[in-house]
Amino acid sequence: MRLNIVCIPGDGIGPEIVSEAKKVLNKIAEKYGHEMVFTDILMGGASIDVHGVPLTEEAIATAKAADAVLMGSIGGDTNTSPWYQLPPEKRPEAGLLKIRKALNLFANLRPAVLYEELAAACPLKEEISAAGFDILIMRELTGGLYFGERKTVEENGVRKAIDTLTYDENEIRRIAIKGFDIARKRKKKLTSVDKANVLDSSRLWRAVVNEVAKEYPDVKVEHMLVDNCAMQLVKDPAQFDVVLTENMFGDILSDEASMVTGSIGMLASASLNDTKFGLYEPSHGSAPDIAGKDLANPIATILSASMMLRYSFDLDQEADAVDAAVKKVLQDGYRTGDIMSEGCKKVGCKEMGSLITERI
Ligand code: NAD
Repeated sequence: MRLNIVCIPGDGIGPEIVSEAKKVLNKIAEKYGHEMVFTDILMGGASIDVHGVPLTEEAIATAKAADAVLMGSIGGDTNTSPWYQLPPEKRPEAGLLKIRKALNLFANLRPAVLYEELAAACPLKEEISAAGFDILIMRELTGGLYFGERKTVEENGVRKAIDTLTYDENEIRRIAIKGFDIARKRKKKLTSVDKANVLDSSRLWRAVVNEVAKEYPDVKVEHMLVDNCAMQLVKDPAQFDVVLTENMFGDILSDEASMVTGSIGMLASASLNDTKFGLYEPSHGSAPDIAGKDLANPIATILSASMMLRYSFDLDQEADAVDAAVKKVLQDGYRTGDIMSEGCKKVGCKEMGSLITERI
């Protein structure tokens, strides 16, 4: 298979971690007989320095022509970097918002996996973390409260703010279909999260999810209220497989789920549109405090590349091989500084990438 991948190394540790993910992908290509063509584009501070804007139209066109995009991270030190003296629409993060919009990425996927080897980093009680967990939070990204009409008015001397939460059935259906498709690749369980006891938008959400569920009789579906889900994530996270939810609930629950793993350098993510196209990136930022020092953990980016193989290219066997190599490296006791614990061997970013590559 020929895979046309656009890479956005970005800023800070971005170039270092993307370089390790490419190393792993090249090994996959060699072992499984694929051809991977990588094209780099500039985004964020790196693009500001060269073009004066965080993302050019040309870079967007290059990304659109690709099969998938693999990103490191963008942005600098928000207190000291000159990029943050610029108006908001010229700052590094504006590039990310622009590319998400241009590529119509409406589904955000964030896995929260507790590796047995890193269980000590999990802030939950041992009797809960002992069962491990592997959750995929799927969040609607382009609708709901963050995109609805809003205003602040003054009525009889009292300030009043109004935000609107709107979803139409098509927006709900397209993400529900993605959620069920992805549940089929996993443990075939989907928990749809809403606030249907109060909100009309949630009642429509629930109704449409139930309609879509009829096309997926092999996937077990359940509905859970968002307040209960927030509790269940810390009480019994092992019960979840795919968690499907709207924009704001997903924003909050995905951060909660990732924090219970305890390891920021391990968290992958993907944003998909209604084709097989996706943008894959670690959940963490550009870590300017450790950039250029070979200290970054490349695993989140390597696991994002694995998600790209699975969800954009349907190469499940290859994705499994990457995931297994990451697990093996942890079992063998290698750690970057951020996940280091007593008795383990500390390695840098490059060595971690090489150790994972060797195990494929
Ligand atoms: P951050 O995630 O970059 O860093 C937080 C802490 O975690 C730091 O101590 C950092 O060293 C550590 N860390 C993060 N990733 C690591 C890794 N892979 N290995 C080892 N340690 C790691 O968050 P921040 O400091 O708040 O933000 C820094 C910059 O990143 C800002 O400009 C912010 O806007 C940007 N940012 C970008 C994205 C993105 O590109 N999607 C996301 C979040 C933040």
